[in-house]
Amino acid sequence: MGAPAFDADNLPYADGDFYFFEQMLDPKERNRLHEVREWLAQEVRPHAAHWWNVGAFPTELIPRIAELDIVSPVKRLGYSNLFAGLLHAEFTRADTSIATFMGVHDGLFTGSIETLASPEQQAEWLPDIYAMKKIGAFGLTEPLGGSDVAGGTRTTAERSGDGWVLNGAKRWIGNATFSDWVVIFARDVADNQVKGFMVDTSLPGYKATKIENKTALRTVENADIVLENLQISDYYRLTGANSFKDTNKVLRITRLSVAWQAVGQQLAAFDVARRYAVERQQFGRPLASFQLIQQQLVEMLGNTVSSLGMMVRLAQLADDGGARDEQSALAKAFTTARMRETVALGRSILGGNGIVTDYEMAKIFADAEAVYSYEGTYEINTLVTGRAITGIAAFV
Ligand SMILES: Cc1cc2nc3c(=O)[nH]c(=O)nc-3n(C[C@H](O)[C@H](O)[C@H](O)COP(=O)(O)OP(=O)(O)OC[C@H]3O[C@@H](n4cnc5c(N)ncnc54)[C@H](O)[C@@H]3O)c2cc1C
Repeated sequence: MGAPAFDADNLPYADGDFYFFEQMLDPKERNRLHEVREWLAQEVRPHAAHWWNVGAFPTELIPRIAELDIVSPVKRLGYSNLFAGLLHAEFTRADTSIATFMGVHDGLFTGSIETLASPEQQAEWLPDIYAMKKIGAFGLTEPLGGSDVAGGTRTTAERSGDGWVLNGAKRWIGNATFSDWVVIFARDVADNQVKGFMVDTSLPGYKATKIENKTALRTVENADIVLENLQISDYYRLTGANSFKDTNKVLRITRLSVAWQAVGQQLAAFDVARRYAVERQQFGRPLASFQLIQQQLVEMLGNTVSSLGMMVRLAQLADDGGARDEQSALAKAFTTARMRETVALGRSILGGNGIVTDYEMAKIFADAEAVYSYEGTYEINTLVTGRAITGIAAFV
């Protein structure tokens, strides 16, 4: 039997957005999303497997992303939260590492400045950050403080003259091998509260070493950071970061971005698996003609659409004033769990070709593991939700 007698790219349901959620955007937002999608299809997706294989971030891409002018889509540019979410999912669909680079620079870093810096600090720093002339990182996690970093921050900040001295170590800090700035969260030895500092990475006492041998998000450069008697003026203390509650104001928003990544990962897995199933022939017929394969594709679709639907509602809540911690936590836990199932089904549909990055799926499959664990693991987000529905904290 020859190739299928239909155009597999032009079926009404060739896309994982089965309920057409994208139609909820206004025309201006839809056009903008389509422009960025086109750009990603040309500039990112064809190169993404190569970048991932070599495990180095393509810094030459940064000025080209800057030309898109998309940093801070809601707060600065006035787009809806649904647009911001679908945009982030679209970046992820093209490549989860590039989306994570944006998630760190735009969400975690820019979000910290927008949320925790004084108006004077914002006026000085934000223009270059929005224009991506200065790239940032977010340093919270430590070698010995992961899920419990809220109460277990070991990096210290000590007053010295009119400034501060920072000492300690951070782990997993995305972009920090090449970023200009990194927001460092450190415990003030005077009052034991976690405070935030805008650290220039060229200062003496700052050292970032790239974490090698990763099996997920290989294009993102994560660093181990050591801070050794790093001296910083009080001007660089984020005036709105006075306890971990303040840090959490940033994480509440970025946790939703990671849930959007889980949507983008599933859209990508569905794209690749559906196309492969209609093109690949076995037993003289396309894989897609086998009932078991159709069932797997439909399971992938159901997971994707349910994740997307949940995120669309959360975007509405965010537009109406903000989602609560536990609402973000359930979204992160649920969508990443569905994502893990979806990418595993997709990997299986590609058979042996599902374990080589040449067919994209192996990269999508591997990247899912990082998305499942960062910005609050599945377990921690489950426990945050469990506390909200029982009134009992199962973790401290
Ligand atoms: C690719 C990548 C990028 C990252 N980027 C950044 C970044 O830019 N900046 C930053 O600050 N951090 C970053 N992180 C760190 C990330 O947020 C942490 O990995 C995450 O918070 C989990 O911490 P941990 O890895 O130390 O795991 P641990 O906290 O050691 O957890 C290990 C396991 O134990 C479980 N566990 C822990 N406590 C409990 C409990 N009470 N009950 C039940 N189970 C529990 C966890 O769910 C997990 O399964 C990144 C991580 C990765 C992998």
